[in-house]
Amino acid sequence: HSIYGIDRWSKDLLSVLPNGDVALCDPAHPEAAPVSLPQILEDLHERGIASPLVLRVKSFLEAEIQHLNDSFAQAIAKTGYRAPYRGVFPIKVNQQAQVVDRIVEFGRQYEYGLEAGSKPELVIALAHRLSKDALIVCNGVKDVEFVRLAILSRRLGFNTVIVLESPKEAEIVIETARALGVDPLLGVRVKLTNQISGKWQSSSGDRSAFGMNTDQLLRVVDRLRDEGLLHCLKLQHSHLGSQVPDVNDVRRAVTEACRYFTELTREGVPLTHLDLGGGLGVDYTGEQRATENSVNYTMAEYCANVVETVAYAMDEAGVEHPVLVTESGRAVSATSSMLIFDVLESTLYDAPDAPELEPDDHHLLKDLQAVSGYLVPERVQECWNDALFYRGELRALFRRGYVDLRQMARGERIYLNLMARIKEIAHESPQSGELDKELQKIADVYHCNFSLFQSLPDVWAIDQLHPIVPLQMLDQTPDRRAVLSDITCDSDGKMDQFILAGEIAPSLPVHSLPEDKPYYLGVFFVGAYQETLGDLHNLFGDTNVVTIDLRADGGFDLLHEQEGDTIAQVLSYVEYDPASCIATFRKMVDEAISAGGITANERKTLIDAYRASMNGYTYFE
Ligand code: PLP
Repeated sequence: HSIYGIDRWSKDLLSVLPNGDVALCDPAHPEAAPVSLPQILEDLHERGIASPLVLRVKSFLEAEIQHLNDSFAQAIAKTGYRAPYRGVFPIKVNQQAQVVDRIVEFGRQYEYGLEAGSKPELVIALAHRLSKDALIVCNGVKDVEFVRLAILSRRLGFNTVIVLESPKEAEIVIETARALGVDPLLGVRVKLTNQISGKWQSSSGDRSAFGMNTDQLLRVVDRLRDEGLLHCLKLQHSHLGSQVPDVNDVRRAVTEACRYFTELTREGVPLTHLDLGGGLGVDYTGEQRATENSVNYTMAEYCANVVETVAYAMDEAGVEHPVLVTESGRAVSATSSMLIFDVLESTLYDAPDAPELEPDDHHLLKDLQAVSGYLVPERVQECWNDALFYRGELRALFRRGYVDLRQMARGERIYLNLMARIKEIAHESPQSGELDKELQKIADVYHCNFSLFQSLPDVWAIDQLHPIVPLQMLDQTPDRRAVLSDITCDSDGKMDQFILAGEIAPSLPVHSLPEDKPYYLGVFFVGAYQETLGDLHNLFGDTNVVTIDLRADGGFDLLHEQEGDTIAQVLSYVEYDPASCIATFRKMVDEAISAGGITANERKTLIDAYRASMNGYTYFE
């Protein structure tokens, strides 16, 4: 199983048991027995919870929150930094109540807060009892209602910071604060000019969508001073980006942010907090390199770099060390969830045997069959060229009517059998590296019970890579290679890039599907952004979601279960009324009875079938 590189990317959260099961390891109790994932799935199945499902692990989420806060605390102690870290979790990264509730609960010991980028997210934040010093940072576009609620929440003791995104927004805040007679807690969003590499390059630099340039910034500072509100401006927000691959980009951007901070301080702005936004990346591939899906630093290194850079810049300018804030979302929540689905069936792209030829078969079939006669490692490329050529010719003859359907089927089967043998020889021959890679792309298609568009939208939209592994049989060598196709009727709904040990491969090593039990695949690190970005393509709805806690004895406790959407629910999202659908169907059935087309007994069967579908899961059951 070393082919999957689990040791490289799993951050010790997974292991493989001697029976080949992938198992979850409790980071809080490394001595505890790992908990078998297939066993968890079997237990859930007995309780009536089927795949596809999202599995959330409480201790995975808690471990990341702890690691982030401890890493900052350690860097602060080591550097002699004279202010604390007060992180906030950006709700948009995973808004699910189970996740946010747990983050708030576990984060209380660290005075951990929340970031809200919209009115609904502020409403969520204000439904939590945060600790005394925890922040609520409000970003994004704000109307009067948003600003009013943020200011009024101060009366309940919330440290709600309104981050001003533009001079226009500053006017809304000035007016609303005056009308309410309550001092707001303010921040300014400063646009950094430093461009950060990686997938989210455009969210940094001059042309990024949010934040103010120097001119706008000074206009806002002057307006606040004129209005007697400058004393409320406590926080500078400079968002670094998302999934920043290179730690030296972090240093450069933080240095620039500090320049603004010290200059604003010199302008008489009483700033106390420096918020560096998101950007702390996740090493999805385990490469530990500055690539789109990996990072060249650890969480501890990121924290140390931030603390050292800020300390140095502030000391040099003679400015008090500010409270450090980050809005790390991905790094906190990605590892805590996994998507699990079963494989429904496979389409194989090779055949174990070749058919006998008929006496009057076209000579192209014989040519194709003859290739196996010279199939040796030294001539494997030649054999592959010939096989492709003869099959192409055969297809052309079929299209023109010179070869019939049965001959064509025999030809395809000979080709698929050749393919199996060519793949085998190319894989074993040291001379055929490039050919082996090319043939890996012509893999089986494993048809899977999930929707890429609903559950892994970033894979579809921005080629995000997530580790994917069969959850069982890893004590056996995988005998097939496959690309994965989802259950939607969309050819875009496929996955054909896989993280393996030491490479990104065009197909995933898998096992021939067992006949007597399900074959599950797990997609890991899906706890950030995936759940609410997903859409209803083909009306496949939310999957079942289960939150578990790992027990020291190798078992687990089911903390929460959220049933996936029923068909009635997804229909109502697209403006159908399930009751009137049932009524219309029933009317058609009654008309069929009147016309003598069906019997009264069939009427019941038909209506029951329609109603059962309406209440069923949208996925293959
Ligand atoms: N804060 C702001 C303002 C953002 O726009 C984002 C995401 O891009 C984040 C925080 C979260 O970033 P990440 O998930 O990379 O930590």
